[in-house]
Amino acid sequence: MCQKHLGFNYCFDDSYCKICKGYCCKGEGYVFLEQSDIESIAIYLNLEIEQFIQIYTRKFYDKIVLANVKINGEYTCCFLNDGLCEIYPSRPSQCKTFPFWDSMKNLSIEELKQLCPAIKK
Ligand code: SF4
Repeated sequence: MCQKHLGFNYCFDDSYCKICKGYCCKGEGYVFLEQSDIESIAIYLNLEIEQFIQIYTRKFYDKIVLANVKINGEYTCCFLNDGLCEIYPSRPSQCKTFPFWDSMKNLSIEELKQLCPAIKK
């Protein structure tokens, strides 16, 4: 089923996520973490907050972002494992809300499909 969101003129077929193996989790982008993300992922991983920050995050200016790893020359989120998110139930809000971001609202279908092949008009 293709999910719709108010104010967006496209839909998102999440059944595609099983096939695409984390297309949106690869590349050189950043996953910015809110304090609530940090707390919920640390709990999910059974880590102290400081441990989680030290092991799985990096600073990007004054923000905290998830760490990336480089595999076969390609950057990928540190939690992507064999195409699946290891922290899916507690994934950051930036991941939960993708691909319904305000910054994507006015993109063409060609541009949207480059960001996520599961987007349909
Ligand atoms: S936290 Fe999970 S959903 Fe978010 S980029 Fe990393 S692997 Fe993908």
